Amino acid sequence: MEKIILLRCGEIMLKGLNRPFFENKLIDNIRKAIKDFGNARIRKSQGRIYIEPLDSTFNFQKALRAVTKVFGIVSVSPVWKVESDFDVIKESAETMVKELLKDKPCKTFKVETKRGNKSFPLNSPEISSNLGAHLLKTVPGITVDVHNPDFTVFVEVRTHTYIYSEIIPAYGGLPVGTNGKAMLLISGGIDSPVAGWMMAKRGVELEAVHFHSYPYTSERAKEKVIELVRLLTAFAGNIKLHIVPFTDIQLEINDKCPHDEGTIIMRRFMMKIAEKIANNNGALALITGESMGQVASQTIQSLAVTNEAVSLPVFRPLIGLDKNDVVKIARDIDTYETSILPYEDCCTVFVAKHPKTRPVLSHIKQSESRLETEKLIEKAIENTEVIEL
Ligand code: ATP
Ligand code: MG
Repeated sequence: MEKIILLRCGEIMLKGLNRPFFENKLIDNIRKAIKDFGNARIRKSQGRIYIEPLDSTFNFQKALRAVTKVFGIVSVSPVWKVESDFDVIKESAETMVKELLKDKPCKTFKVETKRGNKSFPLNSPEISSNLGAHLLKTVPGITVDVHNPDFTVFVEVRTHTYIYSEIIPAYGGLPVGTNGKAMLLISGGIDSPVAGWMMAKRGVELEAVHFHSYPYTSERAKEKVIELVRLLTAFAGNIKLHIVPFTDIQLEINDKCPHDEGTIIMRRFMMKIAEKIANNNGALALITGESMGQVASQTIQSLAVTNEAVSLPVFRPLIGLDKNDVVKIARDIDTYETSILPYEDCCTVFVAKHPKTRPVLSHIKQSESRLETEKLIEKAIENTEVIEL
């Protein structure tokens, strides 16, 4: 009897002719997610994926946790894989249930059987009732409740038999890398890491760009962003982070443009620089954490003026979410605690008390004409630092 991990795939099963492409990407991503946890074989069979440890170096619990973060997987179970022999099945299920009850006291159970192997001598209802009777006899303190059990013993008889009780939900989505690459504009805030996570969940590979305004923002503010990107890699795989020096641009804007237009002009610079870096690195879209109406730069008029700065598509997956919804996701994906660390963001340093909420594009462009936009952008890109995470 051998303990393995069973992974259930979601949407990719609907992919028709493209399915092998999605499956291979998914298996690739799983392999990367567990590579630090010992030797294991990844096997695909009948729409499912199994991870089978090859030796005792394999860290089962760590691998189990890591694969729940791989997009394209809907749920995960630790499973006993045994010989398809009813005596072996009974004995294994008994061991599994006794082990399960050590951690959480449950009283009622049922057995649910699927028989794919029609040459097995008992049919599904017979397996369920005989195994149920065996467990009642051998495991003290449990009774059957077929309608509302505390736990279910699932038995799947195929070439081998798979026995399990736990079903751990994963995030679904599509395997990262099946939908091209996009450039995430990441601040140190709560929103942008969640925005990146949501697009990665739809199969988009991420690259990231961060603007920092040293010495107006601290080294620790930069470290915080690096840590946020590192947290995203658990879901999105490797991410290349571009750190762009933004101080000169902000000082110029502050110096030469009306104060209440500062934020919107700065946002347009960010978009233009991000677009250039995206084009240089094969990213096909930009991602931001903007949400309708959240701040002055996120009114419909401001978003329109920001958008006009670039021609790549801009994805704003949080556009229709309330802050509470975003916080919920941030907590769930573990970025929240890092996001709320109190280091200044470059946006807040030069921000006007009353920024324009209804900027007019022609006015903004006129103000921008006082700046050497191309030169400033070129210099910022030249001095960009790249970190592979
Ligand atoms: P966040 O919580 O992501 O910081 P926010 O609600 O504070 O967002 P803004 O500060 O207006 O909103 O920023 C809007 C979006 O612009 C961010 O979600 C992010 O995508 C991008 N952005 C803002 N500041 C930076 C920065 N310093 N570097 C890179 N991108 C940034
Ligand atoms: Mg912010």
